Amino acid sequence: MSERFNAIVATEVEGKTKGQLQQLTLADLPDEDVLIDVAYSSLNFKDGLAVSGARPICKRLPMVCGIDLAGTVVESTSDKYAVGDLVLANGYGLGEKHWGGYSQKARVNADFLVKVPTEFTLQETMAIGTAGYTAMLSVLMLERQGIKPSDGEVLVTGAAGGVGSVAITLLAGLGYEVVASTGRPETHAYLSDLGASSFIDRETLCAKGEPLGAERWAGAVDTVGSQTLANVLAQTRRNGCVAACGLAGGMDLPSSVFPFILRGVVLAGIDSVMANMDLRVQAWARLATDLPKEKINNISRVEPMSSIPELAEKIVSGNIRGRVVVDVNA
Ligand code: NDP
Repeated sequence: MSERFNAIVATEVEGKTKGQLQQLTLADLPDEDVLIDVAYSSLNFKDGLAVSGARPICKRLPMVCGIDLAGTVVESTSDKYAVGDLVLANGYGLGEKHWGGYSQKARVNADFLVKVPTEFTLQETMAIGTAGYTAMLSVLMLERQGIKPSDGEVLVTGAAGGVGSVAITLLAGLGYEVVASTGRPETHAYLSDLGASSFIDRETLCAKGEPLGAERWAGAVDTVGSQTLANVLAQTRRNGCVAACGLAGGMDLPSSVFPFILRGVVLAGIDSVMANMDLRVQAWARLATDLPKEKINNISRVEPMSSIPELAEKIVSGNIRGRVVVDVNA
C-alpha cells in the first residue's frame, strides 16, 4: 500500500468549508512537475479564512490549504529544479486553486517555485512567508515611489500582525521613522523592539474622518483597508505613497479623490499572489540582506500542523502576534 502522509484538507462540512487534518497518498496529489518533501509552511490571514471557512477562499474542494511552503525537491521532471534543491513557494493560488503547503508532500508547478536564498534556513523562509514577502513588496513600492527616510514619518497599520511586524522591522532597519498603529497596547514593547518609534491607537484610525486632514505620513503600509485606509490617505503628505496590501478591517474604501488630486498622493496596490518571478526574486534577495536573523526569530514561533484549525480562528479574529511557522512533520 502506498505511503500515507498528513495534510490539512478543506472540504464541505455541514454546508460550510472547513480545513481538517486528513491522510493522503501520493496518488491523491495533482499531476505537477516537482514533488517536494515539505518541511514548513506558515499561517497567514488568508489561511485563517480558508481553514475556518470564514470566507470562500478555496476555489474548488477538496483543497489542501496553505498558501506557503518550503521544502526539498525529491522528484522533478522540470529542468529548473533537481532532486535535493531547497525551494519555497508563496501564493500563485496555492491553497486556493492549487493544492497548497499544509501537507507533508506537495506536487507543485516548477514556475511557482523560488530557490531558497542561501542566507536562510527553510524554517526562516516560512517565518517570513507570504506575510513577510508582502511586507517587502510594500517597502519596495515605497522606494520605487521615491519615499526616503529623510521625508518624515511612515505609518504601518495592523502593526502587530504578520505583515505589520515584518514591515516595521524592514522600514526601521532602513532608517525610516516608523509609527505603528495597533489595537493591542500590550504589544508596544514587542513593536518597539522591532523598531517602532511611536504608536497610534487603532481606534483613532478606524473612526470616520475628514476627506483631507493634517499632513503627517510620508508613506504608509496599510494592512487594514476600509475607514483606516481612507484616514491614512487623508493624512498622507504631498506626493506621499500608501502601499495598500490588506483588508483586516474590511474590503471597502470610503474615501474621496481629494488626497490624489489636491496632494498628488499615490495609492499603490500590492499583489503578492501573482507578482511576477523577477519581483519575487528581488523581494527574497532584499529580505536576505535587510531582515536581521535575530528579528526573524523574535517575530515567529513554530507550531505543529494539528494546531492549524485552532490558530485559523485566532488569526481571523486578529489575535495572532507576528508570524506562525507550521511544522508539517510535527
Ligand atoms: P494578521 O492577522 O497577522 O495581522 C492583521 C492585523 O490587523 C492584526 O494583527 C491587527 O493588528 C489588525 N486588525 C485585525 N482586525 C482588525 C480590524 N477589524 N480593524 C483594524 N485592524 C485590525 O494578518 P497578516 O499580517 O498576515 O495580513 C494582514 C492583511 O494583509 C490581511 O488582510 C491579509 O489578507 C492581507 N495580505 C495581503 C496580501 C497581498 O498580496 N495583498 C498578502 C498577505 C496578506 P493590531 O492588533 O496590531 O491592531
